[in-house]
Amino acid sequence: MSPAEIFEVELWEHAAVSPPPLHAFVAPLPDEALPSWLLRYAQPFAAAPDVLLLGDGERDLPKHPDWWRKPDPLTVAALARRTGISSERVCSLSFADWPDDGHADVMPERFSRQRFISERPSHQPRRIGVCPDCLAEDEAPYVRRTWTIGWLAACPTHGTVLVRTCPECGAKLRLPGLSSTAHFAPDRCQRCAHRLARATRKLATEPVLRFQRRILEGRPGGAIALPGIGEISWPVAVALFDALLGAVWIDTKPVAREILFARIARDLGAAPAGELADSYQALAILAWMFEAWPMRTQAALAMLRAVRPRRQMQRWPTLDAAIRDQVAALFLTAWPDERNNRERGWWRAWIDYLPKTGDELRAQAFRERLPHRRARLVAIADVRDGLSVEAAAEVADVRPRTLYRWIKRGAQGGLEAALERPSGQLSGSQAAQLAEWIAAASPDEPRWRTNRVQNEALRRFGVEITVYVADRLLRLYGPWRRRKILLRRRLTVAPVYS
Ligand SMILES: [Zn+2]
Ligand SMILES: [Zn+2]
Repeated sequence: MSPAEIFEVELWEHAAVSPPPLHAFVAPLPDEALPSWLLRYAQPFAAAPDVLLLGDGERDLPKHPDWWRKPDPLTVAALARRTGISSERVCSLSFADWPDDGHADVMPERFSRQRFISERPSHQPRRIGVCPDCLAEDEAPYVRRTWTIGWLAACPTHGTVLVRTCPECGAKLRLPGLSSTAHFAPDRCQRCAHRLARATRKLATEPVLRFQRRILEGRPGGAIALPGIGEISWPVAVALFDALLGAVWIDTKPVAREILFARIARDLGAAPAGELADSYQALAILAWMFEAWPMRTQAALAMLRAVRPRRQMQRWPTLDAAIRDQVAALFLTAWPDERNNRERGWWRAWIDYLPKTGDELRAQAFRERLPHRRARLVAIADVRDGLSVEAAAEVADVRPRTLYRWIKRGAQGGLEAALERPSGQLSGSQAAQLAEWIAAASPDEPRWRTNRVQNEALRRFGVEITVYVADRLLRLYGPWRRRKILLRRRLTVAPVYS
């Protein structure tokens, strides 16, 4: 190599290794969070973004971990100057245009159980969740703005439940600070380098995604449109969600919560996920409640044996008065005593003047051996205590029409008449016809639900059968494989050492 050639190579290398920073071009990616872009931008220079992109006077501005959500105009101007990306574009990577302080967006897992039961919920800064599917598709892995929203449960693109802790080592996932010089790899756990794109996926169910979309669409404009309620401001929505979820978590018994969660899981067509997906569980509870407002909430309060909304509101003494009034007004509609009672049916007087109180009816239910009598007594006790028939039916897991029938029978013939089995039992030939119809189902289609059989019995013979009868018919004649219950039971038996 001639000296001239060496000189040329040196020149070229010199130019490539230290180009003036302002000529680098790393464009922001769709929905990218500002810190993610800055970290990617600084990557080729092996320098911390704050040193590379900010002057001495500006470097102190982004010290607060959440500075970038509502960035200071001076910082934005400085970043725009250095990177050659317009101020508007830089701002679009933040939440600058979202109204109010956004405190509720910052808190990690904002509506999760922990927020309601621990005295001082931890607030580690810069927590994020990631979508394994997004990361798997990324050419250059980056952090989305939406992943930094504390209440978000699932990826809006893939419907995958966000992963907030490393599945390998349990470290909480976080965005690095701007003074970080470490290699920026948001697709890996910062502690153990586990590939997050390989994390097990859990898909959110459609009702939960729909509810999340509702909030996500309303949030930038500051007003959330809730079914059955209409538009309310973001701070009111946050306070209302707190009140509803607080009613679920605070001072309730685990057994009662299990009953509620089982119902939610069934109605939404999936389990409201375990401990690992607390944000998801919160949105699942709310999604379920708002599928039928306020009836579902009424039913939830009854299932939880929770205190009434007026007392519930006392849990939130520091709420701003104007917000508090709005939330109280909404929450109180979830209790029939508090609103104009539209149910002035002729049977109402019978319920209201039953010699037994709600608690006495429930005590009687507790002593009953037959499940159908027990269920009816509890439902009648709920209505006696002021629950609407719709809500009491929801709690009893029957259709309102069915509960109305029980009550009307009671009003005509006394309590005992309400508790008696439906007059029509299936005759032998009717049962055989239903069995034949069930057996003709394809084993490949999902197992039928009991209400399908109940409806068919009603349609064909005008006979009302219970879930127990329907379930037995399905189990005896359905072409579906038996669930292997035995296997699971055997596991729970403690070993005997002799
Ligand atoms: Zn995704
Ligand atoms: Zn890890």
